[in-house]
This record gives sequence, C-alpha cells and structure tokens, in this order.
Amino acid sequence: MNLIVSAPSGSGKTTILKKLFEKYPDIFGFSISATTRKPRQGEVNAKDYYFISPEEFGNKLADNEFLEYEQVYENLYYGTLKSEIERINALNKYPVFDVDVKGGMNIKKHLGDRAFSIFIMPPSLEILKQRLLNRKTESEDSLKKRLDRAEMEMAYSECFDLVVINDDLDKAVEEFIKAVEDHIL
Ligand code: ADP
Ligand code: 5GP
Repeated sequence: MNLIVSAPSGSGKTTILKKLFEKYPDIFGFSISATTRKPRQGEVNAKDYYFISPEEFGNKLADNEFLEYEQVYENLYYGTLKSEIERINALNKYPVFDVDVKGGMNIKKHLGDRAFSIFIMPPSLEILKQRLLNRKTESEDSLKKRLDRAEMEMAYSECFDLVVINDDLDKAVEEFIKAVEDHIL
C-alpha cells in the first residue's frame, strides 16, 4: 500500500507525519521529493528534500525520472522521483507521499486502490496564516504565495479518501494514525 498526504502549506502535515514515522519507523518510508526551493533553516538535503537547481530538475524531467511533478508556486518545482519508490520498496516499507493536491491526485490515479489519500485541513485560513507566521520560515512574498494557493487546495479536499481537520493537534494525530492503521496496516 501507499499513503498520499496533501494539505495547504502550514496545515501541520509535517508535524503529523513525524508522529506516524515515530510510531512506525520500520513500516513507512518517506518519499523524498526533489525541489528547486531553497532549504529552510533546519532542513537537511536528502532527508527533507533533494534540493536541486532548476537545471538539474530540467535534466531529470528530460530523463523521465519523475512519477509526477508540479510547479507548486511561481518558479518553484517539486517532483516525486520514480527512484524513491524503488528505494522504499527495497526497504520493504510503504511509501508515504507528501505532495500538493494535484500531485496527490496524479499519484492516486496511477496507483488506484493501492493508495490511501488523506487531506489535512486547517481549521480556517486565518489560523493557517497564524501558523505560518508562528513558524517563522516564510518571507512576506512566500507567505502570500502559500495563502493564495490554500483556498484552491482546500477545494480539492473532497477528492481525497479522508479529510482530517487539524485543530487540536493530539486529536488530529490520533484520527490520522487510526485511519492509517485501519486502511493500510
Ligand atoms: P506543513 O508541513 O503542513 O507545512 P507544519 O507541520 O510545518 O505544516 O506546521 C506548521 C506550523 O503549525 C508549525 O509551526 C507547527 O508547529 C504548527 N502546528 C501544527 N499543528 C498545529 C496545531 N494543531 N495547533 C497549533 N499549531 C500547529
Ligand atoms: P513546502 O515548500 O512547504 O515544503 O511544500 C510546498 C508544497 O509542495 C506542499 O504542498 C508539498 O506537499 C508540495 N510538494 C512537496 N513535494 C512534492 C512533490 O514531489 N510533488 C508535488 N506535486 N508536490 C510536492
């Protein structure tokens, strides 16, 4: 099985997924995407993302190395590498894809019943903005880009197998992990 997780940036996807990997380190493998975005403070190359140049991204695209890719924000590309699925399968783990809504739909189309998809919903756009501000990782411009996109992404939530509202974190984690256990384990 495969797990697809999408959410507007700042909804708490990384925080919730961390709990899943803590609970089941030997069962799930994080699909490390390639991106042309610069690392945030604390992010590690080949752990959080493969941080690559636009040229390198273009070469990989030309070499058909992506299962899917999207220009999620203006001039910022993100893509799922086919080699990640092979790497995770070789470890006998279930791949977990942290992708935007369009990427999520594309992977779901590709994998069909072999994938379970979860959308993590912030309680409101205002709270989403507050969380992104509190995280202190975004410039004014990148914060605006993320909020501008959030509404469109939330409209996609009904295409997912499950929507988890991340209001109280502990409750959201519990609901998320329970659903994964029921549908994947
Ligand atoms: P994403 O991976 O979806 O961009 P993060 O996991 O980085 O989001 O979460 C964004 C910010 O919101 C982080 O600073 C995180 O600690 C905080 N956060 C996550 N969930 C909650 C919650 N339920 N209540 C309050 N803050 C939260
Ligand atoms: P961030 O810059 O906040 O890490 O990620 C921005 C958005 O890009 C998030 O919605 C994240 O899920 C998405 N994303 C990350 N990797 C991929 C990928 O490989 N493909 C697609 N389509 N989206 C991705």
